[in-house]
Amino acid sequence: MTTLLVKNIHTLVTMDAARREIRDGALFIRDNVIEQVGTTSELPQTAEEMLDLEGKYVVLPGFVNTHHHFFQTLTRTVPAAQNCDLFHWLKNLYPIWANLTPEGVYISTKMAVAELILSGCTTASDHLYLYPNNCTLDDEIRAAQEIGIRFHASRGSMSVGESLGGLPPDSIVEKETAILQDSQRIIEQYHDNSRHSMLRITLAPCSPFSVSQDLMRESAAMARNYPGVRLHTHLAENETDVKYSLEKFGLIPGDYAESVGWLGEDVWHAHCVKLSDRAIAKFGKTGTGVAHCPCSNMRLASGIAPIRKMLDRNVPVGLGVDGAASNDGTNLLYEAKMAMLLARVGSCEASAMTARDVLELATLGGAKVLGRDDIGYLAPGMSADFIAINSDRPQFAGAQDRIAALVFCQAERVDYSFINGKKVVDRGQLTTVDLGQLVEKTNQMSQKMRSGSRM
Ligand code: ZN
Repeated sequence: MTTLLVKNIHTLVTMDAARREIRDGALFIRDNVIEQVGTTSELPQTAEEMLDLEGKYVVLPGFVNTHHHFFQTLTRTVPAAQNCDLFHWLKNLYPIWANLTPEGVYISTKMAVAELILSGCTTASDHLYLYPNNCTLDDEIRAAQEIGIRFHASRGSMSVGESLGGLPPDSIVEKETAILQDSQRIIEQYHDNSRHSMLRITLAPCSPFSVSQDLMRESAAMARNYPGVRLHTHLAENETDVKYSLEKFGLIPGDYAESVGWLGEDVWHAHCVKLSDRAIAKFGKTGTGVAHCPCSNMRLASGIAPIRKMLDRNVPVGLGVDGAASNDGTNLLYEAKMAMLLARVGSCEASAMTARDVLELATLGGAKVLGRDDIGYLAPGMSADFIAINSDRPQFAGAQDRIAALVFCQAERVDYSFINGKKVVDRGQLTTVDLGQLVEKTNQMSQKMRSGSRM
């Protein structure tokens, strides 16, 4: 048993039911769980480990990233994919992604997770949907475990190639029997549904234009056999995506999702930029979640997801940076700012999304979308996942509201991050990875991948 006291926090943003923001706050942690939350004077004065934040820092629950494709970190700013919409962007990237290797999956996971953690993320989900050259989800899980993030790994898949009317080349799709077999193996080997779990598994057929309705139904049936295994996919990302669903299935995306059993509290869909009002109402009623990825939606000119409407209809919404080939950053603090600004410009309504609203999406919203009741806010009994940001930086100078400043100003990175009670960022530096070496390796992998050689 070890204890940790974090004291003299300028403002402790709890995100608890009363949304308490505690001045001169403190946290008392035993092992990986928060035991007490309050003011510095109320809490124990000592512990085995102490962190004195000297009245300068804001502390928040760690952020949750609900949509990503870590492997795309190796294909940022590919010239042929810089100025395309979704389908053309994918078409130009598939041939490069076909060169992905197990080591590429491992390195890109470390790089993406390092960036996520530095920008406030303590729980991440990832969606790996192609497995060329003997890649496995195991490579990703190993990297995530080594760096120490709380992880929701998605066994993604693609099974409908060009010859069957799908978008991806036949060379990078898998057989559905093999997908389902590997999905079962991954669940049984790794999925941990216990409280404070560091690793859970999701099944995630990629998109309407790359998998069959059968695979959607069978994946859902399999996931629902295992408590806590969730379902995730891409939905209604842009007009072409909607058109494809109408032509191929005779259904708009919301109806397509319902027809294959993909509505419910155990499902979340990425993007939903073009979700109909009727579908939004159904999502709200069924508790079906949405991963909102504003930067990617802007980058690919997909449109503006109606997030305010979704929130007003009780749809669970979390933030996602999406893959690093369509963002091309992996920064959740920046994503939060973009989510706030995009909701405003989309509705021409300055109050459509406040800084506190968007911090709520990044914490409570993400936890709900991933089906977690042990993260997302700071209270006794919750997992010890929290971040601290120094308000004395130049980019916050003159800010009168230190919490709103995290979104309105350029917060960029955290100074401290604790995940499951363990310090993973110390004075702005990652403690579990050598960032310089990692950048170098990522660059080497990226170069080999683009030039078509095997890594
Ligand atoms: Zn995506």
